[in-house]
Amino acid sequence: MQRIVVLSGGIGGARFLRGLRRAAPDAGITVIGNTGDDIHLFGLKVCPDLDTVMYTLGGGIHDGQGWGRADETFTVKEELAAYGVGPEWFGLGDRDFATHIVRTQMLGAGYPLSAVTEALCRRWEPGVTLLPMTDDRVETHVVVDDGEGGRKAVHFQEYWVRLRAAVPAHAVLPVGADQAAPAPGVLDALATADVIVFPPSNPVVSIGTILAVPGLREGIADAGVPVVGLSPIIGDAPVRGMADKVLAAVGVPSTAAAVAQHYGSGLLDGWLVDTADADAVGAVEADGIRCRAVPLLMTDIDATAAMAREALSLAEEVKAA
Ligand code: GDP
Ligand code: CA
Repeated sequence: MQRIVVLSGGIGGARFLRGLRRAAPDAGITVIGNTGDDIHLFGLKVCPDLDTVMYTLGGGIHDGQGWGRADETFTVKEELAAYGVGPEWFGLGDRDFATHIVRTQMLGAGYPLSAVTEALCRRWEPGVTLLPMTDDRVETHVVVDDGEGGRKAVHFQEYWVRLRAAVPAHAVLPVGADQAAPAPGVLDALATADVIVFPPSNPVVSIGTILAVPGLREGIADAGVPVVGLSPIIGDAPVRGMADKVLAAVGVPSTAAAVAQHYGSGLLDGWLVDTADADAVGAVEADGIRCRAVPLLMTDIDATAAMAREALSLAEEVKAA
């Protein structure tokens, strides 16, 4: 059985995984999920990226939106607001609340996040093994202007959801990552992988945060297997969302080639850019990363499965080279 390991954020990673599962139905797929976006709200532990993967692959996702539950209602949120209890800028629906209640209850009982995630996945049967990158607390903070001539750090969700990434970001900090240990199963999955894939997830606050956990980069490099990625940037802009803002904060231009160079040939063996960026292939290959231009829009599951097939065949090419 082919063993595929995917480092995933939320929407981009989850949608890609749906295609990968279709493209490689017999493969064993392990997902290492970003937990830097996690936030405590109303006393509950919320893990947006893990849940997006779980709901998307488990059939519970709000498809048009890309996050949260389908057929959602917001009674609890309205009731909280009636008490004046916020934040109101983070959309937690009633169905979604149940997930966070179960998670928080299990964490309170002493289970690590990896065990909690496994338990939640027993309901959703995502068809992949979903592992948080770490059981330890890591929180991505973004440094912004404080409005008084100085700077302050805010939680990533405050920057992304409340401020809509509309203020300049000076730095992105995965707080706690340097002290974090990979969750159980993470290093094993990398060591026994046949191929490692970076889906079109945010290179800074999704994949970058996962790579900030000590041991992860080494685990990937030491695996000695093809590492291939798909660009989340098409035509010099993110396909959806605001990844350009956090790329700018780490000094990386929003181009498919610059993202490949940011990961670097020490980490990445192969890179897929969209056909719109075919002229970037030469620059990426000059940096020692095998590159192909193929359609990279996840318009539907067939198009996404085709992308996954291209990634796997690029991995084969790398292996044969
Ligand atoms: P998040 O945690 O929900 O932000 O999701 P991810 O980090 O997994 O993915 C976000 C990235 O997905 C964004 O930077 C988008 O540019 C990218 N993305 C979304 N849809 C597509 C698509 O159809 N094709 C490609 N290539 N990238 C996409
Ligand atoms: Ca995310």
